[in-house]
Formats: sequence, C-alpha cells, structure tokens
Amino acid sequence: MGILDGSTRAAELQRRPVRMLDPRRCRFRGAAGFAVLPVSRCCRSDVLGNDEFGGRIRVNARPTIGVLALQGDVREHSGALERAGATAVPVRRPDELARVDGLVLPGGESTTMSRLLVTFGLLEPIRERLAAGMPAYGSCAGMILLARTVLDGRPDQEQLGALDVVVRRNAFGRQVDSFEADLAVAGAGDHPVHAVFIRAPWVEKAGEDVEVLARVPHTAEAGDAADRIVAVRQGRVLATAFHPELTGDDRVHRLFVGLAEEDVDLEER
Ligand code: GLN
Repeated sequence: MGILDGSTRAAELQRRPVRMLDPRRCRFRGAAGFAVLPVSRCCRSDVLGNDEFGGRIRVNARPTIGVLALQGDVREHSGALERAGATAVPVRRPDELARVDGLVLPGGESTTMSRLLVTFGLLEPIRERLAAGMPAYGSCAGMILLARTVLDGRPDQEQLGALDVVVRRNAFGRQVDSFEADLAVAGAGDHPVHAVFIRAPWVEKAGEDVEVLARVPHTAEAGDAADRIVAVRQGRVLATAFHPELTGDDRVHRLFVGLAEEDVDLEER
C-alpha cells in the first residue's frame, strides 16, 4: 500500500465494513506484527468504524516509535515525534526494541554509538528489524549508522546497512564544524527547512533505490559543499545529515511518522 493522506485513508476505511468488538482498542500493524493498542494511544489517522451495537465510533492509530537512547538528543527527538503524532519511547534493550513500530537513531558520535550498540546487545536485533522492514530515521550520527559504507570512520565501526549510501564522516571539514542553512527538503512542505549541521556527514554516493530529498544550497557560505546530498530516503528508511529535532520544526519527523504509519489498520472482526 502507498502512503495515503489522512482523509483519503479515512474515506477508504469508511467504505469497508469494520466491526469493532471493543471500541476502546484498535490494532496497529507494524513490522513486528500486530499490536492492539488502547485508543488513548491511538489518535492519528481519524478512522471511523462500527461498534458492536451498530453505532459509529472514531478510532485512530498512533505508531509507537522508539528513540535509541544510548547517546544524543533523545528528549528532543521524543518531543518532535509526539508532536508529529507518534508515541515515543526510549530504546536501550532488545525487549524494548521488539515493542516499537519504528526507530529513530539520534545524533551523537557514530563510533561510540556503534560500540554501545554492541555492548547493549542491540546491533543484531536492530539489523534484523531493519531487514524485516522496520521504518527508521537517523539524524547525523544516526545517518552514518544506517549507511552501508562510511568513509573516514574507524575501522571497527559497525554499520547497520539499511541505506544503500556511502557517507563521509565530518565531511564539512574542521573550519565549518557547525553551520546552519535553509534547505528545500522534498516531502517536508513548500517552505525551506532551517537545518543545523554539527560535525555532519554528507552522502557521497547514493544507490539507485535511494531518493535524494535535500542538497546543500549554492550560497557563498556553502563553498565546495554546495550540492552535497544531506537528506535521503530508501523505502521507509529516512536520514538527514542535520538535526531537525533542535529547531522546533517538526516537518521531518512528520515525514517519518507518515512513513511509519503506512501499515496502520483497524482490527476487523
Ligand atoms: N561527527 C559525528 C560522527 O561521526 C556525528 C555528529 C553528530 O551526530 N552531530 O558520528
């Protein structure tokens, strides 16, 4: 199924006869299988169904998104996800990973995060979930971790390999450790996203299944970095070299929650 906007999806589901035995619950179909969620946690997709007495009820599905909580802006990502219509939970252990429908990998230091993923026993479980289609979003170090190949990394740095890209760590050089730029980001609306880059990577090469969502604009400040790829998507895996969680603009998180919501469905009995 493609991505439908809320009203198209609601209209589609209204045409189907839906019987809810328990109108306080709805079902979210995530990569891990089906989960029955209380309606208090389901309030996104605006879907109408019938209750067992024939009355119309309104239930909505809200995906549970984990935020990898080993390092980085966990609180800021969680806030942005909640505002974007998801339930955000921290993930530090494999059993916590098993309960989420999607995962955000925040910025930090990719070499350290790689080591912590091994220490916390999360590296292989995350690889397995990604291989099974779990939606994921990585910002900065998260983008590095999701990539197939990293340049200027540490030789023992582990890759999750969910994005067919080659990324270069600290690509913008020492002089421009951190900078900000207004970027056109495909899928995030018409006006530019104010992007904060902190010792950021860029995507040096992207495979043919990878959609380029943003490049560094041609400004005097950008210099040689102009045109470098800084946001990509491959299926339900999204990555940005910048940190949208720091600006209070939730459009990138909304884009991600939209990807994670593709499988939201009502329990049909
Ligand atoms: N330079 C860091 C790394 O290599 C990324 C920086 C960040 O996440 N802000 O992982």
